[in-house]
Amino acid sequence: MSILTLNSCSEKEIATPKTDNFVYSVDRFADIEVLRYKVPGFEDLSLKQKELIYYLSQAALEGRDILYDQNNKYNLTIRKTLEAIYENYKGDRNDKEFLALECYLKRVWFSNGIHHHYATDKFTPEFSESFFETTVRTLPSNTLPIQAYDNSVEKLIAAIKPVIFDSTLYAKRVNQNEDIDLVKNSANNYYEGVSEAEVDQYYNSKKDPNDPMPISWGLNSKLMKENGNLVEKTWKIGGMYSDAIQKIVYWLEKASKVAENEEQQRVINSLIDYYESGDLLTFDEYSILWVKDLDSRIDFINGFIETYGDPLGLKASWESVVNFKDLEATKRTEIISENAQWFEDNSPVDSRFKKEAVHGVSAKVITAAMLGGDCHPATPIGINLPNANWIRQMHGSKSVTIENITDAYDKASLGNGFSDEFVWSDTEKELIEKYGFQADNLHTDLHECLGHGSGKLLPGVSQDALRAYGATIEEARADLFGLYYAADEKMVELGLLPNEDAYKAEYYKYMMNGLMTQLTRIELGNNIEESHMRNRQLIARWVFEKGEKDKVVEIKERDGKSFVVINDYKKMRDLIGNLLAEIQRIKSEGDFEAAKELVEKYAVKVDQNLHKEIKDRYARLNLAPYKGFVNPVYKPIYDGDKLVDVEVSYDENFVEQMLRYSKNHSHLPALN
Ligand code: ZN
Repeated sequence: MSILTLNSCSEKEIATPKTDNFVYSVDRFADIEVLRYKVPGFEDLSLKQKELIYYLSQAALEGRDILYDQNNKYNLTIRKTLEAIYENYKGDRNDKEFLALECYLKRVWFSNGIHHHYATDKFTPEFSESFFETTVRTLPSNTLPIQAYDNSVEKLIAAIKPVIFDSTLYAKRVNQNEDIDLVKNSANNYYEGVSEAEVDQYYNSKKDPNDPMPISWGLNSKLMKENGNLVEKTWKIGGMYSDAIQKIVYWLEKASKVAENEEQQRVINSLIDYYESGDLLTFDEYSILWVKDLDSRIDFINGFIETYGDPLGLKASWESVVNFKDLEATKRTEIISENAQWFEDNSPVDSRFKKEAVHGVSAKVITAAMLGGDCHPATPIGINLPNANWIRQMHGSKSVTIENITDAYDKASLGNGFSDEFVWSDTEKELIEKYGFQADNLHTDLHECLGHGSGKLLPGVSQDALRAYGATIEEARADLFGLYYAADEKMVELGLLPNEDAYKAEYYKYMMNGLMTQLTRIELGNNIEESHMRNRQLIARWVFEKGEKDKVVEIKERDGKSFVVINDYKKMRDLIGNLLAEIQRIKSEGDFEAAKELVEKYAVKVDQNLHKEIKDRYARLNLAPYKGFVNPVYKPIYDGDKLVDVEVSYDENFVEQMLRYSKNHSHLPALN
């Protein structure tokens, strides 16, 4: 056992079990634990492959500032100011005010801005306004981002003080309350001075409902008013975020020269073209090339991809993942994709909503080598792209399970007391111990590779017809598909699960999480906002309610504590099939009212008593509900001008990494 001492935000200590001498836990603050991940197999790659990963990993870091600015207009100013304090503070660093500021800065780093990465609520600082002002005034002015504020420290303070301290200003990054103006009430920087109605009108006028290959209008731009006119500022070289994008392209050009094959080289070059022109047609061309590149061992995402940060689902945040295929583990996902048509044909969904021919669902297990932008420090465990439905239907999609990340989560949670506290009996505990990791990974494979890739929209139904409910419905669809098939005997037949009990580990964990334990991540009194969490509660509560009279799933009490008990796994699977059919119908028909009703009824609201109980029990375990990662460090070794090796190391801590990124990979001014 190694004891990690905390240096801020909490006086408690946490004990982290050590496995194979690798210390997974790096830092702990607020509701966050920062972990490390290993990159097994990197050393065995060829020099050229290592070189390619190195260049792509640099490109993955250069867009970090873009995401800060996308998340809120003042994020870069605030980060740069806080970092100036952190590095130049001459007072007592154990002072309560300073420690609170350090904690706040760590939270800003972790969330790429002043709003919680998951709940999207603005943080409440625990240092005082006077401490902040006084300290800023004592700093050498050349350490502060004052260029954007007429070189005036006072103007800088006046601009960001209310943004940090006034809880009503920019209160929520992504507001999903359909009853109010989603654009005006969201604090992201995708829009400025425009209303939701104006945004709708602007983009609807561009859309051609009969276009079989619709462009993702608005994906890579900010929409704002200038002198009373609507202006779109495109994120490209020569446009908005140009300085950061130039750096990304600089590394992509190097990567292009050491690509593994011509196909991959075309992918990289097409992405460069897109960054240069900002043309969304080129982005679609790039996406198609990317989907079709299946032979390369190394792969990457780099660009404006996911739209979770925009309540209207139009604007994409910048992100990057660099990875290489885990050849052994990929055999598992290859089996799944080889059988994709069987899964589509046999799903409980109405045949009108099924794909007649499932195109190129390619799935692989990958080892992440570098995470950037919206994938860092908090990171997904599975990814399925591209997002454009017509490309998915015509050309297929690529889906990945990031196993070195799920492995790090698993190792870091060994022996932390969570199961002992929340799992009903030894039967379920044993199931989870034996099959939990395997069943979890399988569910992720199925979610990404089959779930998101399954089904189709009826002709004329728009991809964003479900508006703010779209993301929750889509995640539920993918989860349900995965849950439904995890319990199928086909899994054992295909050798993906060892026996017909193994799926029960996933069912139990899913229900326990959806009904109870994911509430540990929500502040008391708050509703659930984030789409994946909404989706999990939607499924769990719906199944619970529909199975109530048959006691399929129960919440039982023991010693004043609530536990999930599943009495009938087979019936639970039937219910999952029923909900999958309904959710697919909603998606395929674009039935907004039905989506709204389901989400509002099952996914959003929280049982206050249960919430408090779960929070109290969880607090006693002293665990962090959210986790993220520091990246490894890659060091190119040169002999003269010639690159002869790339070394990977794992010894950087969270603060060191964040400060280094801000120093070496920050290319944007405080205001953009
Ligand atoms: Zn998903």
